[in-house]
Amino acid sequence: MNLFRPTLLALALVAACPAAGAATVIRGARLLDGTGGPAREDVTMVIDGDRITMLGAGLRVKMPKDTTVVDYTGKTIIPGLISDHGHIGSVDGTRSGTPDLYTRDNALRQLRQWRAYGVTTVTSLGVNNPDVFYPLRADLHAGKADGADLFGADRGIGVPNGAPPAKMMQVGPNQLDRPSTPDEARAAVDAAAERGTDIVKIWVDDFNGSLPVKMKPEIWHAVIDEAHAKHLRVAAHVYYLDDARQLVDAGVDILAHGVRDRPVDSAFVQAMKQHGTWYIATLDLNEAAYIYARHPAWMDQPFFTHAVQPALARQFADTAWRDRVQNDGSTRTNEEALQTNLKNLKTLYDAGVRIGFGTDAGAMPLRIPGFAEHRELALMVDAGLTPMQAIQIATQRAAELLGLDDRGVLARGKRADFIVLDADPSGDIEATTKISAVWQRGRQVGGKVDAFTP
Ligand SMILES: [Zn+2]
Repeated sequence: MNLFRPTLLALALVAACPAAGAATVIRGARLLDGTGGPAREDVTMVIDGDRITMLGAGLRVKMPKDTTVVDYTGKTIIPGLISDHGHIGSVDGTRSGTPDLYTRDNALRQLRQWRAYGVTTVTSLGVNNPDVFYPLRADLHAGKADGADLFGADRGIGVPNGAPPAKMMQVGPNQLDRPSTPDEARAAVDAAAERGTDIVKIWVDDFNGSLPVKMKPEIWHAVIDEAHAKHLRVAAHVYYLDDARQLVDAGVDILAHGVRDRPVDSAFVQAMKQHGTWYIATLDLNEAAYIYARHPAWMDQPFFTHAVQPALARQFADTAWRDRVQNDGSTRTNEEALQTNLKNLKTLYDAGVRIGFGTDAGAMPLRIPGFAEHRELALMVDAGLTPMQAIQIATQRAAELLGLDDRGVLARGKRADFIVLDADPSGDIEATTKISAVWQRGRQVGGKVDAFTP
């Protein structure tokens, strides 16, 4: 082993890593640390357990004999991506929205896929079965299960005969509350708080007029009030600007989807800023509804094919299915929704509104865990953000949205959750798809996605 010039930092390392310790030293790579700051070259990262204990450019550290050294010269490291909006246990292949899918095994299958694609933390934003969700969350937090770390919004609060649509999400009674009165709504929040939810979810939408009712303001006022009394934040599924405006004024904490019916106006932008409301655009969601029927060239790349289960791959190859989607009236609506969503994201970002990261992956078969998050990054760049801004949103900002200060950036004291890339994404966001390795909690948990079977 090479003998490096001893420094004060080296002494600190030796002190931190007694002979029996199993420190890991990562060296040689370029680093984008998640803060949006400039890339640093030839970075050395020292990992002890699941944490980064030292990090700097050009560091030379004296290492105990049992130190593992990994040389990533020529690679670029970014923090593990963090999804603020996904779902577990709702999809398998082309099946979705039935209670039998909400099993520990099925959820872990998806969480392993997210992690293989470098998404090391996922928020399951509602329709969770608490009996499965909470033990799984505890095991993932403790590193006792394999997959992306998990946070979530308990069952979530919907509307009788309304959202989320029962025909789209035939979830069990244990996966969703549909309160009829403000008292029932408060009771639902209390029960979720009692179970230990991270966030409260509500649905305020009529799904393009397909549902006869929307959540009444008296219900969402009660939810927001009760959640805040329990020190919980509320994330709202929205589509329309008018609903978003009312919810922001009422103190909702997170808009879990972009505004997609029309351009946001300055009054709305100001309200978002004044209230400090978070915004998750979920750009990929509307695109995913039609894009696979057009078979863009990237669908033939391993980065895509390794995220697609066999039943879904068969659907994508089925010309009848493709014709049906291309001719469906909703395709035009989804294309327009995406264009509006792109413009609104740019407007809100430029105004300084707090932007989080999510795709709604896992809610429906076409919203593909792992792939969706990288597609979202590309769409954010299409919206006019720089690759560095998009990456910062998917890492540092996404962690801030969740109130997590142990991840999202790569720095001393933070979790060693990161992606090793074959190319530098700061000039070309597509480089985030060139995954060489994924590390979580200080150990390598994945390589190229070609080795992953969905
Ligand atoms: Zn969702």
